[in-house]
Amino acid sequence: MWRFIRAMFDGLFLRCPSCHKGAMFRSFSEMNQQCAHCGNWFERSSGEITGGMGINIVVTLLLVIMASAIVGFSTLPVLPSILTLGVATILFPILFYPISRGLWASLIYLTGDNEEPDEGMY
Ligand SMILES: [Zn+2]
Repeated sequence: MWRFIRAMFDGLFLRCPSCHKGAMFRSFSEMNQQCAHCGNWFERSSGEITGGMGINIVVTLLLVIMASAIVGFSTLPVLPSILTLGVATILFPILFYPISRGLWASLIYLTGDNEEPDEGMY
């Protein structure tokens, strides 16, 4: 359990889940393929980016649903609330993008799928 929590925190803070030192990203949107310290693969197979996108979509939807429920049951003015939610729905997934990929890379590390080379197209 501790290994899982530690790997998720490493993914959250964009560190290598194996050595806890290497940076996952070289810039805001560019992920390193391997850790510079230990050589751990972050997203080895093509198409791994879809896992991070899935995490991003689920977290964004959950937050929007919760925020919409809060706004719906409150006495806040409707139009500014809808505009704020709309802007947040666009901006949050962009800002959450590296973290969602980091979390996915940590999940891949925990399952050991980053050890297998990409077999390419069938
Ligand atoms: Zn590492």
